[in-house]
Parts: sequence; C-alpha cells; structure tokens
Amino acid sequence: MPAPAQSFEELASRYEPVIGLEVHAQLLTRTKLFCGCANRFGAPPNTLVCPVCLGLPGALPVLNRRAVSLALRAALATGSTVHPVSVFERKNYFYPDLPKGYQISQYEKPLATGGFVAITGADGGEKRVRLARIHMEEDAGKLLHEGFPWSGEKSGVDLNRAGVPLIEIVSEPDLHGPEEAHAYLTALRGVLLYAGVSDCNMEEGSLRCDANVSVRPWGTEALSTRAEIKNLNSFRNVARAVEHEIARQVALVESGGEVVQETRLWNAERGETAPMRSKEDAHDYRYFPEPDLPPLVVSSEWVEESRASLPELPAERRRRFATEYALPGYDAGVLTQERDVAEYFEAAARASGNAKAVSNWVMTEVLRKLKELGGGLASCPIGPAALAGLVRLIDEGTISGKIAKDVFERMWATGEEAAAIVGREGLTQLSDESALEAVVAEVVAGSPDQAASYRGGKSAALGWFVGQVMRRTGGRANPQRVNALLRKALGGDS
Ligand SMILES: [Zn+2]
Repeated sequence: MPAPAQSFEELASRYEPVIGLEVHAQLLTRTKLFCGCANRFGAPPNTLVCPVCLGLPGALPVLNRRAVSLALRAALATGSTVHPVSVFERKNYFYPDLPKGYQISQYEKPLATGGFVAITGADGGEKRVRLARIHMEEDAGKLLHEGFPWSGEKSGVDLNRAGVPLIEIVSEPDLHGPEEAHAYLTALRGVLLYAGVSDCNMEEGSLRCDANVSVRPWGTEALSTRAEIKNLNSFRNVARAVEHEIARQVALVESGGEVVQETRLWNAERGETAPMRSKEDAHDYRYFPEPDLPPLVVSSEWVEESRASLPELPAERRRRFATEYALPGYDAGVLTQERDVAEYFEAAARASGNAKAVSNWVMTEVLRKLKELGGGLASCPIGPAALAGLVRLIDEGTISGKIAKDVFERMWATGEEAAAIVGREGLTQLSDESALEAVVAEVVAGSPDQAASYRGGKSAALGWFVGQVMRRTGGRANPQRVNALLRKALGGDS
C-alpha cells in the first residue's frame, strides 16, 4: 500500500481516532501466582519451575496472597470498585509457551471495575481516562528465537515466566490520539510505581501494552471495527504505532476499503503495523470457572487496610508541589513522575529553602546525569542534603552559578560536599571589589581596539570584555558586578 500522502493532522481532522489500551503489569511478588517458584527476571532458562507452573498433571494451584494485595492496591490507587467476590477462570488456547493449554485468568467476575487514570488533556486541563476493569492472571512462558547455536533451526521455550502474577488493566476507549496514549501510560506507570505494585520495567517485560485502535467520522458516536496492535515495547513505540495505525485505517476507509477485526504486529524498524492473525472473540477461548480454585473473597477489612496503606499518589502530590512550593505545573509534573525523585526533590527543597532552584537542578543536572549513568536515583552520588548545600552556596553569593556547575560535576565524581570542594580549591566568588576593579582595568587597558569600538557604539563588544574578565578570574567573578565595573571603566553608558 502506498504511504499516505497527507499529514497525520490532516487525516485526524476528518476522522476521530478512538484508542483503548490494555496494559499487563507484573506484580512485585517474591514468588509466582500459584506456586512457590521465585518470580525473578534473568535466571537461566527453566530453572525457576515446578510441577504447578510446568502444568504437569495432578499439580494444584494455591493462590498467592501477596499478589492479591498488590492487585488490590492497583485497584484502589485508580479509584476502582473492588468486588468482594471474583472468580478465576480458564482461558483455553494452545501455544508452545503454555504447556497447560490454558491460562488462569479472570473473565466474567474480575477483581475490580470502574476507576480512572487522570492525565493532562489537549486543552491543558485534567482529563479522566476511565478504566473498564482490572483483573488478575498468570503470565505465560517465553519463546526464545535467538541466542543459541541451534537458533537458526529451532526455537526454545523458557518457562521461568510461566505463572508469574499479572494484572491486566483495560481502559475504556477514551483516548483520542498518540499523545493521549503516551500521557495515559506515563500516568498509569506513575500510579503503579507509587503504589509499589510493579517495577514497570518495559525492557524486562514487566509492563506490556496492547492498543485497540479504530477511527470514526467526527461527530459520530458508534465505535467502528478496531484492530489490536501488539509488540509495543516502549511508550514511544505505542505512540508511533497508534499514529501509524490511525493513518492506515483512514486511508483504507477513504479508498473504499473496510477495517477488519484483527491482531496486528508493530514493526519498530519499518515503522508500520502488519497483520498477524484474525482477532479471536472471547467465545473462542471457552472460558469456564477454574475448578481447582475457590472464588476469591476479599473482605471489606482487607480493602480498607489496603486503602489506608497507600502513599500519596502522583496526581495528589503534583497538586501539592505546585501549591506548597509555588512550582510551575510543568516542574510539578516532571518531579512527581517517579516517587523517589519526588522524595529527593522535597528533602532538598526543605533543606535549602529554595524550591525553585532545587527543582531546576533536579530536572536538568540530576536527571541528565542519571540518564547518562543509566541508573535510578539509588545510584545518585549526591544526596538531597548535599544538593541543598550547593544551592545555599549560590544563594549566599559564595559561588557563582557557573562555578556551581563545575562543583556539581566534582560532587558527582567524588561524593564530596560542595563546601569542602569550594573551600579547598578556592572557588569562592570574587567579592573583593578592588581586586575585581584591577582585573577589569587590566583587561580594558590590554585591548584598546575593542575598547574603542565599544566607545564607538558597538555595544556587543561589552560581552567580549565580560568573557575576558571571567576567564582571568577562573569564572569566580559575579557577572553582574563585572558588567557594571566594565561599563564604568569603558566610560560608555550604553
Ligand atoms: Zn512453579
């Protein structure tokens, strides 16, 4: 099919995209959902298995209470209604990574329904994306297609992941573009991380997403036939795949074709989706209640205990940061995306008394260095108190903002306090006015041509002089003072 000639914006101006996301999140349990095998990523293939998760005949599942606790937290953190009785069912299908021939999931009676995730909508206001349901299920194993000497001829099966506890979070089709899909995933991830439900590590597959996409003429309400897109392994790829799929469907409909219900695979390298299989309906799975497990009963006490143990969640914290620390909405959003970053910011802001300065340091330098390092905040060598110390040195006028950047780099490399580095290396700002005047006089006297051109009206020459003075003082001069002294020495008043 030829590439659509029109821009995405043009296509989306005639048709409204309708998107619902299904997110699978692995729960942060020590063991699997129905057996005692470890729930751990990266072990040698088939070393974390037992008769239950291998699906051997006669083995019986026993529900992991901790997994239910975590699923409950996810439900409550999204404002969902927890049902006192939910039912595990067998979802029957054949696949080489599913030796039992069925997956234990929930279908007619899921753990929770309703609820929402708040995102910032296109108009800048808060938009609530409704959740249809949150249910519990077990993960399947994994096929290994590469990495072995025999990989060219056959595939391997690793069942370490079989039986790992998951929740599936199904949104209503409330999303209307790739940006909203991205915003929803970011917000949902924040909630799951804050609530301690999942580590949401997409590289390790602990957060996975499928997208249901359809388009309809603007102003109509009925949902059109949708395609389900799989193989979305990053938030960026979700947005790209959704955008591509919307364009494909609009082009198809406008050329007289019809969208068929099917599952499509996203190919990140080619930047397109391709058909994988015709989409099965629920009745193809022949769901029936799992005879080896009683219905899951969750008491109201358990629900209330879970609710009480939830921490402050991202949306709430974002609002509090904006008011309590007078931060712009953007800052509050970035700082609250991850719980440990929010806590780091808050500790440093309190210790320094200058929240906006701390916010700038965290959003730029700290997060940039962590990204370079490829690690989380736990690997940050500068603690919040140390960052506050650096900010205080700037606020007191002890060091210039320029020097502070160097000091920050040294703190990062050595773990030393800012004051120790500044004291030892004599980096304090030159506040001795006469010493500064002497340097200024020297620079002006040494460059008569530049001085003449400044006096002749070329005011940009002043910047050159400022640079010279900063260089001679090793960046320790206060730029505002240097500016003032230079104007005086050059005799101009521009
Ligand atoms: Zn097992």
